[in-house]
Amino acid sequence: MTPRGWAVLTLVGLTVALVVTAVLLIPWQRPPAPRADQLAALGDLPADQVARSREFRSALRPAGWTALAVGLLVALALGLTPLGSRLVELAGRPFGGHWAAQAVLGGLAVVLVADLVTLPLAAWRQSVLTRYGLSTNGWSGWTVDLLKSYAVSAVIGAVALLGFYTVIRLSPRWWWAFGAAGAATLVVLLSFVLPVLVEPVFNRFTPMEQGPLRTQLVEMAARDGVPVRDVLVADASRRTRAVNAYVSGLGPTRRVVVYDTLLREATPAEVTAVVAHELGHAKDRDVAVGTLTGALGAAAAVVALYLLGSSGPLLRLAGVDSVAQPRAFPLLIALVTVAGLVSAPVQALMSRRVEARADAHALALTGDPAAFEAMQRRLAGINLADPDPPRWEYLYSATHPSTVERMAAARAHAREAGR
Ligand SMILES: [Zn+2]
Repeated sequence: MTPRGWAVLTLVGLTVALVVTAVLLIPWQRPPAPRADQLAALGDLPADQVARSREFRSALRPAGWTALAVGLLVALALGLTPLGSRLVELAGRPFGGHWAAQAVLGGLAVVLVADLVTLPLAAWRQSVLTRYGLSTNGWSGWTVDLLKSYAVSAVIGAVALLGFYTVIRLSPRWWWAFGAAGAATLVVLLSFVLPVLVEPVFNRFTPMEQGPLRTQLVEMAARDGVPVRDVLVADASRRTRAVNAYVSGLGPTRRVVVYDTLLREATPAEVTAVVAHELGHAKDRDVAVGTLTGALGAAAAVVALYLLGSSGPLLRLAGVDSVAQPRAFPLLIALVTVAGLVSAPVQALMSRRVEARADAHALALTGDPAAFEAMQRRLAGINLADPDPPRWEYLYSATHPSTVERMAAARAHAREAGR
């Protein structure tokens, strides 16, 4: 069998594995709370809060969708015309067109162009966030964060690009197999290593002061069978009013991180509800499942890129001879961008199901649906979330159940418990 034949076979195998994993490990059987409960919850929210959040979401929407469209257009313009391959050549020229320079500098240049073209839209978004009081870090803080995230992406991107094109040179016929294995490994590494490395770039962490809340959180985690070593407070208030908490690390390094904004804004019972939700993620190994599906998806994507990218018509459009050249990288980016846009609703659906399960876990663990509902109201108020967003937007991009769904779930839980 030819390498191409093996690639087709591998892609079929990976796709089957991905579908089986998703079918077995994502909690699909979790219908949302009754719509009547959702509408009752919506009616109980202050009308001015709902109006303000909808106004805010409408103000944000044009920037968001335009950025998506412009990002797609730039990716297609660079990948499906010779423009992108010329940019890669240009970036490698100061180094005599050496393949490594083309791979790293050319690859980063392609990504940077897309970032720079959408930069005004990112600034527009930031200005809306500032106008509505959601962002607190000012333009200088925003710029510093932006440069930090560029730097982090440039380092990771350079390593990935150099690794990818080295493998292609070492094994011109089988690179897609090594590339698939490498992409899967990278997803696993990023998922477990990145939080530890990147968190401190953006936030400072201090142990939560001793007191009843800390004791309660540590005890609850132990009772849940998810013991944590420490409870840390992140100084998120430097840049945002948004509230959050998460559980990171594995086994002996596991810790709960709570935003200082959450401690400032919410009651202890509500903080407990949020942490109980995060413990649900840890207990159901949602990060591990997400990493596994991500790794399978990344491996399948590399093989699919090899197969698709070898098609004559696409190569001709991109003005390159082979998908294995660094000059074909813009074509790969174009294909990845389209795949990302197409798969977004599926990823959002899987995320919503997993989040709903963590909510159910929090309700069962705390036995306090009133605090859970109060927290949802508060979250929606602070983050200016539309409590009941437009259906199409919800289906395309919502990673969490809507506020009214989460409130309704708490009400349904209270009814069940009261029986
Ligand atoms: Zn969650």
